[in-house]
Amino acid sequence: MSLLGPANGAVVFARTTDEGRGRGITAFVVDLNQPGVTKESYSDMGTKAVARGAAHFDHVRVPAENVLGEIGQGFSQVMQGFDFSRALIGLQCVGTAQQTVDETWEYVSQREAFDRPISKNQGVSFPLAESETLLTAARLLCYQTLWLKDAGLPHTAEAAMCKWWAPKTSYDVINTCLLLHGQYGYRTEKPIEQRLRDVLGLQIGDGTAQIMKLIISRQKLGRALAP
Ligand SMILES: Cc1cc2nc3c(=O)[nH]c(=O)nc-3n(C[C@H](O)[C@H](O)[C@H](O)COP(=O)(O)OP(=O)(O)OC[C@H]3O[C@@H](n4cnc5c(N)ncnc54)[C@H](O)[C@@H]3O)c2cc1C
Repeated sequence: MSLLGPANGAVVFARTTDEGRGRGITAFVVDLNQPGVTKESYSDMGTKAVARGAAHFDHVRVPAENVLGEIGQGFSQVMQGFDFSRALIGLQCVGTAQQTVDETWEYVSQREAFDRPISKNQGVSFPLAESETLLTAARLLCYQTLWLKDAGLPHTAEAAMCKWWAPKTSYDVINTCLLLHGQYGYRTEKPIEQRLRDVLGLQIGDGTAQIMKLIISRQKLGRALAP
């Protein structure tokens, strides 16, 4: 069965006028069980609980009452959602990494080599101390972004910072934790490798690091001077 099989509908953003760039895009609710729609599923390495795929449209008719929001405003509608979801993705990754760090402190306290817990080695405990520091900073960045949103203040650059830095930091932290578990961490019956795969995907979904840095640069420099 296609991973997109259970989906009966989709919100589709399509160009309705030729105004260029972000203008002229409209959001529609589209019935996916009608002639002309083909569903394609992707086989991804992680975040398997959420299916991904593509829907292809060939001469599909959509009634006017299926327009979502205002005609031509689809792009700005979806961009406002991104400023929110990017902070949430950051927190999702930080939470996954923090759980892994908590478990790793416990593991290195119990695991003994040469008659003493491996936590007695600076090479084991200091990377975890660094991880705690990085995750605390990433969490506060996400909270600050959500606080700005709540206060009705601009937060596009901050949301982009959350999106590139929190997933990357979380990925690096989980990688450190996996290595500190030795061979045990590499096993598929432990959740660490799955968390690594999931957080890797969240470095891509909702926009890659390069695009986030482009957004931050444009916020600081304006379009004329930014890359
Ligand atoms: C886990 C996951 C969940 C996802 N969820 C969704 C979803 O819910 N909805 C949805 O629509 N999509 C979703 N996606 C798709 C995702 O948004 C895109 O894959 C992502 O935005 C990158 O686009 P692309 O794959 O077309 O890569 P491309 O745009 O082809 O980019 C390929 C590489 O080139 C770099 N690149 C591209 N343009 C530039 C540039 N101008 N400057 C510098 N570097 C550049 C990119 O950073 C990337 O490294 C998801 C993907 C994943 C992995």
